[in-house]
Amino acid sequence: MKIIDVEAIWLRVPALDEPCEWGEDALIVRIHTDTGLVGVGETDSSPSVVKALIEMPASHETCQGLRQLLIGENPLEIDRLWKKMVRGSEYVGRRGAAIHAISALDIALWDIAGQHYGVPVHTLLGGKHRDRIAAYGTFIPKPDETANRQIVRELLAQGLKSIKLGGGGFGEDLNADKALLKVIREEIGKDVKLQIDLVGRWRNYANALTQCDALRGFNLNWIEEPLPSDDSEGLLRLVQQCGIRVSGGEGLATRHEFKAFLAETRPAIVQPDITRCGGISEMRHIDELARQYGAQLVPHGFSTGILLAATVHFMAASEAGELIEYSQSDSPLFRNLVKNLIPLQNGHVPVPDRHGLGVELDEGVIDRYRVRL
Ligand code: MG
Repeated sequence: MKIIDVEAIWLRVPALDEPCEWGEDALIVRIHTDTGLVGVGETDSSPSVVKALIEMPASHETCQGLRQLLIGENPLEIDRLWKKMVRGSEYVGRRGAAIHAISALDIALWDIAGQHYGVPVHTLLGGKHRDRIAAYGTFIPKPDETANRQIVRELLAQGLKSIKLGGGGFGEDLNADKALLKVIREEIGKDVKLQIDLVGRWRNYANALTQCDALRGFNLNWIEEPLPSDDSEGLLRLVQQCGIRVSGGEGLATRHEFKAFLAETRPAIVQPDITRCGGISEMRHIDELARQYGAQLVPHGFSTGILLAATVHFMAASEAGELIEYSQSDSPLFRNLVKNLIPLQNGHVPVPDRHGLGVELDEGVIDRYRVRL
């Protein structure tokens, strides 16, 4: 079997000059083979940047387009191809967007392998540990209390026992944050887990510690990305002092960044995004690192049903795969791109047993939202 084509497809719901909030654009890939098998993958990154990294012509040996590196290769040789892509894109890559692009392609290679061998990806990864995975739901708070109560009721109606809020100005005004958390805690009661995402908004260690002290009464399950990304010293001090579990890592790529993050800051929870960290292949290394450092693996995941399927297969096959993020976006790229979207059932995500990733794309959705420049 040989790879004969690699497509990088940029999808976007709003016009190019209108904003996206979450899940309204996507970069999906399709790897075509000479046997007719097609693998799909995606990355939650900047679609236009990733598309360029895949399609660009070679400038020299360590600055090559990823498509060119894969054409003619056997798609089943995933580890060798992963290394070939990393090496061949080194000058523009090693971290960040090039690893995001490689993540998408790696996921598509695993999809092909599963279809070729006639097994789900979780079987290729060594076998599933569970048939369903507990999920948590994330929402961006609105300025209006009634709207927030309504959002939370809808989350609970889906059977979720764990919810997270962040974005929409949360973290900018402590009094407003306290008022919001009071409303949410009232609405969900004391048994539902509640976590907050600061998206790096708290200024520094001292500021973050003050805020943690002020929010202690809300029994927070974890605090996500409280400090700016490069403040590892501040984060380590916060982890040691605040008494609330700290999480992060959704923007990191490769085992090397995760190893530094885990060793330098000792978070309780690590949150790689399978479509950014280096794909399914690299998640295996990050899962192992998390185990070594005693951190719980709770992946970030907020894009299309392709990301969801890749995450579910991986988590099913991980001993530590007990909690998954389930997108609450009503974007058609989440709801409709994958025709057989893995559902949320009573707060849990069932593990599918179809071959490969098992996703069926809706060509009409691709056609409708494809960006053609
Ligand atoms: Mg986050």
